[in-house]
Amino acid sequence: MLNGKTALVTGATSGIGLGIAQTLAAQGANLVINGFGEPAAIEALTKELAQRHGVDVVHSGADMARPADVEAMVAQCVERFGSIDIAVNNAGIQYVSPIEDFPTEQWDRVLAIDLSAAFHLMRVALPHMRTRGWGRIVNIASAHGLVASTTKAAYVAAKHGLIGLTKVAALETATTGITCNAVCPGWVLTPLVQKQIDEGALRDGVSVDEAKARLLAAKQPSLEFATPEQIGGVVAFLCSPAADQIRGATLSVDGGWTAQ
Ligand code: NAD
Repeated sequence: MLNGKTALVTGATSGIGLGIAQTLAAQGANLVINGFGEPAAIEALTKELAQRHGVDVVHSGADMARPADVEAMVAQCVERFGSIDIAVNNAGIQYVSPIEDFPTEQWDRVLAIDLSAAFHLMRVALPHMRTRGWGRIVNIASAHGLVASTTKAAYVAAKHGLIGLTKVAALETATTGITCNAVCPGWVLTPLVQKQIDEGALRDGVSVDEAKARLLAAKQPSLEFATPEQIGGVVAFLCSPAADQIRGATLSVDGGWTAQ
């Protein structure tokens, strides 16, 4: 259980991050949920999480592409709760294009949000974790942190980089109560993936259901999506005492994608 701990989850207003936030709140952690969205919807979500689980929840609208926002968000977390015990680097975006047509500003944006934001968050969160002698950093990488696909140059580079960063952080904290690990989901049906399914349906002239089946068949041997709640469960496991000696690891939750 995580009673009395504070968890900061980036990109927690949607998809996987929301599943992680719900799981950590259910275990008793107070939350800073970061992410974009309609103010009224975010306020309702914040209240719902707090009431259902009896924890304190605050929202941060920090833009993960901006290091100064990341620093301010961690400061807000420490000021409000006195600590940052669990940091989940989940916010992420995708952009799809062959390398020769890849817009350089999109390359920079994917790298900033999917990789550099995790560095900036760790940079400012680690001193607080070291003071308390305990911490959990969980980086949501991807099957694309372990293997590649065409048209995803920035995303694949960022996620491979995130796994490298995870290993460095694990080594630099190896003699402490702080651990750093990466979770590597395969396909999870979230708005980020729905967009790719809709684009596939248009491109191939097939129904959305057919495009969904083709997406799974191309990569994920289980032919089933993983769920945000399942990713949340793996993050909660990494926060438990059973995971004290799991350091610098990548945990795949990909229906067999990277076993091939
Ligand atoms: P999503 O699009 O449903 O949610 C993304 C979240 O990130 C949202 O809360 C959004 O507001 C937030 N966000 C986006 N840009 C931001 C920014 N600049 N600053 C702050 N917040 C920002 O996506 P998802 O599918 O839930 O993906 C979450 C993470 O999981 C990403 O890192 C993604 O790469 C990874 N992932 C997803 C899948 C999948 O199949 N869905 C697979 C592997 C890895």
